[in-house]
Amino acid sequence: MRLTFNPQLVNPPFGDPGLYVDFNFEQRALLFDLGDLAELPPKKLLRVTDVFVSHTHVDHFYGFDRLLRVCLGRHGGLRLFGPPGFAEQVGHKLAAYTWNLVQNYETDFVVDAWELDLHGGMSGARYRCHARFCREPLPGRAAPDGVLVDEPGFRVRAAALEHRTPSVGYALEERAHLHVMKDKLERLGVPSGPWLTDLKRCVAGDAPPDTPITVAWHDRAGAHERVHTVGELAQEIITTGRGEKIVYVTDVIYTEANAARIAALAAGADRLFIECVFLDEDRDHAARKYHLTAGQAGTIARRAGATCAIPFHFSPRYIGREEALRAELRDAHSGAIVEDRAS
Ligand SMILES: [Zn+2]
Ligand SMILES: [Zn+2]
Repeated sequence: MRLTFNPQLVNPPFGDPGLYVDFNFEQRALLFDLGDLAELPPKKLLRVTDVFVSHTHVDHFYGFDRLLRVCLGRHGGLRLFGPPGFAEQVGHKLAAYTWNLVQNYETDFVVDAWELDLHGGMSGARYRCHARFCREPLPGRAAPDGVLVDEPGFRVRAAALEHRTPSVGYALEERAHLHVMKDKLERLGVPSGPWLTDLKRCVAGDAPPDTPITVAWHDRAGAHERVHTVGELAQEIITTGRGEKIVYVTDVIYTEANAARIAALAAGADRLFIECVFLDEDRDHAARKYHLTAGQAGTIARRAGATCAIPFHFSPRYIGREEALRAELRDAHSGAIVEDRAS
């Protein structure tokens, strides 16, 4: 079964943190953290619609400029989410440049920056290219149970964690995995195509069964078009399974409160991307730096019941010893570990 999301770390584990989540059936991607983005080519950055920043330490935020540079004039807009103070910090980033000509650009580029307010809500600001990126306040929104994004197919949930400043952990939760049965598709006599994405979106969004879906394709005999209904197609060719859950957690101290919050956020995760900055032998140093050891990360992964824990954000002091970090995570978690990064 082909999964909906393809999550890959942006950099190798000694590089800046960041997770790029490509959608397998859509021209769309989500990005978690904005460190060094040089590894992501423009075509990948242009697929990003939403960015989730853990906190604004420089290794998690300086890549904003590259994203802006690539998207300006070519991308309609981005939604960014981050910790308290984030909306203003995005404004400061934008205010560092001269914008005397951008109001004439053909494509407006709209940056909506949202921040958690730690009281179960979000406040935000809009910065538009055509308004020279002046701050325009957005009306506040609720974030029930930490849910920041709630779309028909998935939601993104946040949890504020402690890093001597709030660091936000994120869970991407697919509502249900919709699988197309290829053999049934063949029996129906139509080829796969972008219409399947429309169909899945309708099914995920509980569209009325009589909603029409136009199936169009080309073959040697020419162009064909057939109209079916969502209800008919859903019954014929789609099966529904448990949705995927992908969690991204970085820059957190190991305390009972943090561990409990992360375990709740990551409960039952298929893939937990979790920082492993230090080894347990340096746990005092890790606590002073407000970071996790690999052993602590593994303990949390086990407590969450995560199927797979993927380590990143290794301290450079372990260059040449990265296997020790992986082994420590593996031993504490006793689950599978895979290495994932963007190519
Ligand atoms: Zn960091
Ligand atoms: Zn940090």
